[in-house]
Amino acid sequence: MKAVAVLPGKPNSVHLRDIPVPKLTDQPHPHVCRIPQGRAVLVKVLQVGVDATDREINEALYGNAPPGGEHLVIGHESFGQVVAVGDKVTEVKPGDYVSCTVRRPGGSLFDVIGRNDITSEETYYERGINLCHGYLTEFFVDDAEFIVKVPVDLKHLGVLAEPASVCAKAIEQAFLAQQRLQVWSPRRAFVMGAGQIGLLATMMLRLRNMEVYTLATTPGPHRKSEIVEAYGATYVSTRQTPLHDLVRQVGKPDLIFEATGNAEICFRSMEVLAHNGALIWTSITGGHQEVTLDAAKINLEWVLGNKLLVSSVNGNRRHFELGLQALSHGELTYPGVTARILTHPVDGLDRYKEMMHLLEENKALKVFVNVSG
Ligand code: BGC
Ligand code: ZN
Repeated sequence: MKAVAVLPGKPNSVHLRDIPVPKLTDQPHPHVCRIPQGRAVLVKVLQVGVDATDREINEALYGNAPPGGEHLVIGHESFGQVVAVGDKVTEVKPGDYVSCTVRRPGGSLFDVIGRNDITSEETYYERGINLCHGYLTEFFVDDAEFIVKVPVDLKHLGVLAEPASVCAKAIEQAFLAQQRLQVWSPRRAFVMGAGQIGLLATMMLRLRNMEVYTLATTPGPHRKSEIVEAYGATYVSTRQTPLHDLVRQVGKPDLIFEATGNAEICFRSMEVLAHNGALIWTSITGGHQEVTLDAAKINLEWVLGNKLLVSSVNGNRRHFELGLQALSHGELTYPGVTARILTHPVDGLDRYKEMMHLLEENKALKVFVNVSG
């Protein structure tokens, strides 16, 4: 069957290759974890979303092949349909729509208790990213433990299950951490960035009834600003209204969700957070960037204001479920809005060059591959 792969360490090596069709009895990641007897699920891939991570893996900024080979099948945002299940699988059945988590458990205590999303080991195993093959192929097998059912009526948004899990987890982490304050009921939120993560975060914070401002550079109206407004949030172009001007107009935010991919914004966000607030960092910033800021002022304000920085990455199956619940709730509250995120379909794995080109241009809101109909 076809698969889209890279040769990690070699820039721009993305290519189509032929790999064996997996069987229910296969062990997809024997170097990391084994599927218990009877617990395998075989999935036919329908759609795979791609993002900056895939582009940066192709730029050889990170990513590693599973041991014993030189290629890595990429793609970590999966959506498919179950084809067959082992005799000990009760959670899903053939025909069900599913997504599959990204990270596989290593050996730390966190991994052992099912919290592989917060492994304390420096080496992490992620399908399509690091040391495990991904989903940009026709079929895959994995442990039922990592398979997440997508409601039939949500199948048009199934390919957003993974990014939604990342947002839902990050927000939940902030609320869990803020229990340190005994009462915390954030009213105003800033979302930095209007990419897929920024938009999904906008929706999830609006579903919690916050007054949300979503900040990005380009002045609207355009699709991103329309989506933001359709979620009942306010789109702010920082070219028209710089961050500090916005704060003067509307006040400091109790919560900031940072998802720009720009390291400077991560730190600038620290300058505007309200007392007792939480700043969530989700950007994965490859490369190097130096920034000058007033560290003494930030430190003073953060100490005197009891402010909190929460970093969050990845999601386990419970976060996928939370993300899918948020997508469902969002669909009922703002019908049809989230589907507008899905801007750039690429039809078929054969068109992997077009897929990578769209990521490189960095103009598309969301690129995804229709693998099979
Ligand atoms: C993925 C996460 C992953 C992270 C780090 C992101 O693009 O969505 O699941 O943990 O990259 O590799
Ligand atoms: Zn991703």
